[in-house]
Amino acid sequence: MASSFAALGLSEPTLKAIAELGYEEPTPIQSQTIRALSEGEDVIAQAQTGTGKTAAFALPIIEKLDPKLRSPQALILTPTRELAVQVAEAFQSYTKYQQISVLPVYGGQPIDRQLRALERGVQIVVGTPGRILDHIRRKTVKFVNVRTVVLDEADEMLNMGFIEDIEAILKETPEDRQTALFSATMPMPIANLAKRYMHNARRITVAAEQMTVPQIRQIYYEVGKRDKFEMLTRILDFEVPASAIIFCRTKLEVDNIGQRLIARAYPAEALHGDMNQASRDRVMGRFRSGQTELLIATDVAARGLDVEQVSHVINYDLPLEPQSYVHRIGRTGRAGRAGIAISLVTPRERRQWGSIQQTAGIKAQRMQLPTIGDVITRRRERFKESIREVIAAEGLEPYTIMAEEMGEEYSPTDLAAAAFKLLMGTMPEERADLLAEPEVYEPYDKKRAPDKKRSHGKESPPERGMTRLYIDIGREDRVRPGDIVGAIANEAEIPGRSIGAIEIFDHFSLVDVPANQAQQVIKALQKSMIRNQKISVEIAKPSSPKVKSTDKPRRKG
Ligand code: AMP
Repeated sequence: MASSFAALGLSEPTLKAIAELGYEEPTPIQSQTIRALSEGEDVIAQAQTGTGKTAAFALPIIEKLDPKLRSPQALILTPTRELAVQVAEAFQSYTKYQQISVLPVYGGQPIDRQLRALERGVQIVVGTPGRILDHIRRKTVKFVNVRTVVLDEADEMLNMGFIEDIEAILKETPEDRQTALFSATMPMPIANLAKRYMHNARRITVAAEQMTVPQIRQIYYEVGKRDKFEMLTRILDFEVPASAIIFCRTKLEVDNIGQRLIARAYPAEALHGDMNQASRDRVMGRFRSGQTELLIATDVAARGLDVEQVSHVINYDLPLEPQSYVHRIGRTGRAGRAGIAISLVTPRERRQWGSIQQTAGIKAQRMQLPTIGDVITRRRERFKESIREVIAAEGLEPYTIMAEEMGEEYSPTDLAAAAFKLLMGTMPEERADLLAEPEVYEPYDKKRAPDKKRSHGKESPPERGMTRLYIDIGREDRVRPGDIVGAIANEAEIPGRSIGAIEIFDHFSLVDVPANQAQQVIKALQKSMIRNQKISVEIAKPSSPKVKSTDKPRRKG
């Protein structure tokens, strides 16, 4: 199996873009699929979101593209518009250093915009079957030059009743095209579709190696994508690990999390695969001696790490494959000591998490995220415990004399309380900013009800570097977060992932966008429609009078 993207024969501009994204090496699905597709084979891959499947089909498509031919050469069918936008964005990030045009096409978006883009000549079309078929029937797109068709999340497309549309679309593409099918499961209609429209397809599944899973406590928390960092700090405050490795998927994420933890005064350091041996040794030395309590790393960077034992392994990002999960958690609970493995799972990753557990033959326990109250209670318990230990250890004489002296002025309770305050620092309940509940919105989660929002119904300020915009339509106009993400992503050409929290109120909505792009978004949105309505957009005023107490985001359940 190839151990690097370069060994898979990818070109320099592609390799550069991947390196910048922080991918260190191909996942098993990627190595196998990229090879097969590059060799011109059809592929049936049993893979789901979270395995790196998008890059697995996108990279060979990009390599094969004729940049001079301004006509669709690849067609990717996806079950939902969210996935279409996401896949189109992935293509854009992989082709950062190439002139290649990608168009997401989905229902709900005004068709004339798509027509203009199609007329300009796009090379990769990513869309939902219904809307693609629309264009075929209107003769606004021709797939005569298509060389590769990808059916992404085929089982989901089947569930959504798209199977006939898919067949009709496949018939409009050249017969000698290459077809790749990705599906988490292989129900009969999908298998039949593959039989009829694919030729000698290579089947790709990632073989489950024999895995010995260490016997340690494994728990997981479900968290919204945007809350992940906040929740990580909450968990760290709750657990207070003596030593933990925090695993992230990419080098970029390692850097990002490392810097943010350090900024909040956690004793953390990041470990990089590309650090030289001397700095690596220094970081590891500090970690082993307990000076650094939290080590943030990718799987690649942590490979071959010689650490005696860590108290916690935290999967900030789930690994891309089950084997890595087992390797990661094996770093705790060594030599019979108690260890704990904690995984953060976003709603989108539920299926992948299920499959990791199934392949590894484990069942992790789902836990409720600790509340601030839980953190405070734990902290107090720990403190009381340490007081008990100090008393048990004796040697208090010099302090007893002081206590007796002051005991003439103050009650024993006041004395102890003052000493506790000095020792413990400010109590969290005195710090209002710690009490803010996090955002729970996640733009691309189609399953989450759009109105399941922060429960306190109070506006919290946008994250640093973000500006909050006010849009004058809301729930009463049947606006959903996806409409806003779609409009901003398409009209202002800002990738969906850089759009921040969205809150939909009855009569208006608030959305956070990168501050330096706020004007661009306002300008673009003013010209566009959401849910067939003209809209007005402006920068939201902090605690805007428009946010009336009667106009809270409605709570669900
Ligand atoms: P996917 O399964 O395509 O939805 O990908 C899941 C996530 O993994 C995405 O955030 C990708 O950017 C990321 N990813 C894909 N391939 C790799 C890789 N080789 N190394 C690290 N991250 C990756």
